[in-house]
Amino acid sequence: MASYDPLQDWFLEFLRLHGAETEVDGNVIEAVLPPEIFQRTGWGEFERFAFEPDLGGRLVSYHSDILEVVKPLIEERGACVNISIPVEFLRREGFESSLTEEVAFVNGVFRVQGMEESVGSYLIVHFKATAISEEKRETLVGVALNARTGFPVNEVIPIVERRLGEPNGLTPGPEERPDLAVWADRVAALAQQKATVVFGDFRKSLSRRLVRDLQRLTDYFTTIEREIRKKIEQKHLTGEEAEREFAKIEATQRELARKLTDQRARYAMTIRLEPVTVLTVWHTVMHLRLTLLRRKQSREMVWTYNPLSKQIERPGCESCFQSIRQIHLCDERVHLLCSRCAAALPRICPVCAKRGQPRNAISDL
Ligand SMILES: [Zn+2]
Ligand SMILES: [Zn+2]
Repeated sequence: MASYDPLQDWFLEFLRLHGAETEVDGNVIEAVLPPEIFQRTGWGEFERFAFEPDLGGRLVSYHSDILEVVKPLIEERGACVNISIPVEFLRREGFESSLTEEVAFVNGVFRVQGMEESVGSYLIVHFKATAISEEKRETLVGVALNARTGFPVNEVIPIVERRLGEPNGLTPGPEERPDLAVWADRVAALAQQKATVVFGDFRKSLSRRLVRDLQRLTDYFTTIEREIRKKIEQKHLTGEEAEREFAKIEATQRELARKLTDQRARYAMTIRLEPVTVLTVWHTVMHLRLTLLRRKQSREMVWTYNPLSKQIERPGCESCFQSIRQIHLCDERVHLLCSRCAAALPRICPVCAKRGQPRNAISDL
């Protein structure tokens, strides 16, 4: 049965971006490679890449050296590939009602002040993510960001991947080239959050094993302690003899505490992220000029209607960067917050706090 692995999509993207002709059949990619690839990698001009064992061809996995082989090719292009995608049709109306369907303002309102057709730029960054604990797990995580608004738009990744290789006409000006440095922290935070979700099952299995091991250790040492206490009782030990046995009990308890700490450390999980590819994508979008109103305060913002996903892009929480549907606004500076960040105690805006602005409440009404 074909199983989904982001490695295959990413590798297909890599091949297409470097001019390969590809055909996908389940977990296999058959490719006609351009000289740029086959001369540099030692692969043949025609290659069959398999993403599961026993399918014939060249097996691609996290344990194969594929990332190492393609790395110089990626680095040569500055690790950053730029493409533009043609848009056949751009919607021009009905945005107010779409906004009402797409998001809900918990303690404020919005007004659409205007719109303009524009060139949107997006960053799609793929990371190799490694979860390190008792054992190691690896995967790829991709995050996408609107480089104008900073909103997370992971939903466009599969759409863009499908449309790679189409002819494109748009040549963006220098002012439309996104600066990755501006968004680096946000991209890293989003990738970290995504990797945490992706490795969720692994984390669960680690904590199940931890619970089991802690129980086993506790049972073992409790039995020893019980034996010693029984000995004291049955032999009616007193004085120095009893002292010696009590010292043994203390030592047993100390040993147990030490072993429990060791075991917790053994199963703790850390995630390491390493960027592998950066893709910059341009296409026509509709920019919507909004005014957000929070009591007497207001804030002007530009949101985006994305003709590829056919959606108005939901904003990102300005504290944790996650995409939000239920939007809370802070009282003074109208920062956008998700329900979790808005509900965290004390009820002051974490964005204002981070920027050293005066303590600023988030009220429900
Ligand atoms: Zn948040
Ligand atoms: Zn704020």
